[in-house]
Amino acid sequence: MLKVSRQPSGEPEIFYSLQGEGVTAGTPTVFLRLANCNLSCSWCDTKYTWDWQSYDYRREVMELSDDDVRERILAFECPHLVITGGEPLMQQRALGSIVSALASQGFFCEVETNGTLEPTLQMTKAIAQWNVSPKLTNSANEASRREVPHALRAFRDLDNAYFKFVVAEPADVDEVCQLIERHNLPSCRVLLMPEGTTSRAVLERGRWVAQACADRGFRFTTRHHILLWGDQRGR
Ligand code: SF4
Repeated sequence: MLKVSRQPSGEPEIFYSLQGEGVTAGTPTVFLRLANCNLSCSWCDTKYTWDWQSYDYRREVMELSDDDVRERILAFECPHLVITGGEPLMQQRALGSIVSALASQGFFCEVETNGTLEPTLQMTKAIAQWNVSPKLTNSANEASRREVPHALRAFRDLDNAYFKFVVAEPADVDEVCQLIERHNLPSCRVLLMPEGTTSRAVLERGRWVAQACADRGFRFTTRHHILLWGDQRGR
């Protein structure tokens, strides 16, 4: 069974859209949003997946069988899946058989993770792309929770793992560089993304973040879904 986030309609948050961020931005994609997270970022735009002080767990989460999840994904007839959250790897034991089955059917499966949990062998075999987003001081998580060296090393050693940092202030870029150096992360697989849940914030920050990427040799990603639709669930 998987704990899946619910849309406001009560349906599970399994939906079809375009990938909004990262190296596959713009790709038609089925999204599967899972509940719960092991961090608590101050600027998180999906607090309804984990903040049970502010949200009602029974209203926001539903349990679905593996078969049910797989059938709902297949119904979109789109062979590109992004598993997001929350933190999907908290449920990776249950996810393993679903993504293995989908990969054997030709699916390109991506996982968005905060990089604090080491992936299992079954997951590394089935996942085509990891979007690892280690958190910085700006997230307000304690350093020992957000920076887990053995997990970062595991992703560093996977050629299909990209490191996407959410940047809010120019000083964050220096922190990214220090983190890259501490864990020997490959710069060619590092992306910087402006923090923001409004098009204005994403565009204003995006200008200097893009320049920082050009200056330091990182990739830039914006947040297409925020620019197009604002902070809407199910987009
Ligand atoms: S790791 Fe992701 S889902 Fe979890 S609190 Fe941070 S931004 Fe939200």
